[in-house]
Amino acid sequence: MNPGECQFEPDVLTAVLHSRWPAQADAELRAHVASCPICSEAVTVAVALDGSLDELRASAEVPDASRVWWQSQLRARREAVRAAGRPITAVQVVAFACAVGLLGACFGATSTWFQALLKHFASNASGFDAAALATAVTALFAEHGALVLGLIALVFVVPTAVYVALARD
Ligand SMILES: [Zn+2]
Repeated sequence: MNPGECQFEPDVLTAVLHSRWPAQADAELRAHVASCPICSEAVTVAVALDGSLDELRASAEVPDASRVWWQSQLRARREAVRAAGRPITAVQVVAFACAVGLLGACFGATSTWFQALLKHFASNASGFDAAALATAVTALFAEHGALVLGLIALVFVVPTAVYVALARD
């Protein structure tokens, strides 16, 4: 035990806080408190504290029925909003997965053209050939016009849609 502490102090405090002090407390404990400055001080403080707690309990307002009803409405609405937010998130994930899949499919469909282009540049030692690129791009649009437009639309539309959906939250 440190000086300034007493082994009986917790017992004394428990007795006071359970409203057993002094009438229902042990005679031994009462005798100790009478002779122990630490415990007698603890009792003084605890009794004062317990008294103010009782006052607080007595003055505490019991919420009226309309406030309880209003709070439960508020809670229900908040839960509904949270529940509504969950499917939106799931839809976003599915949309993103579809977009990635479509992008992959588009790339697969154009890969023949892409490989031909790579082969062309690899075989052309002089490097970048603007005329060849223009020819290749023209050929791409001629062969896969709708696909390229779809690809461009996906690249711009999907992020915009996701952004708008997220901004709405
Ligand atoms: Zn003591």
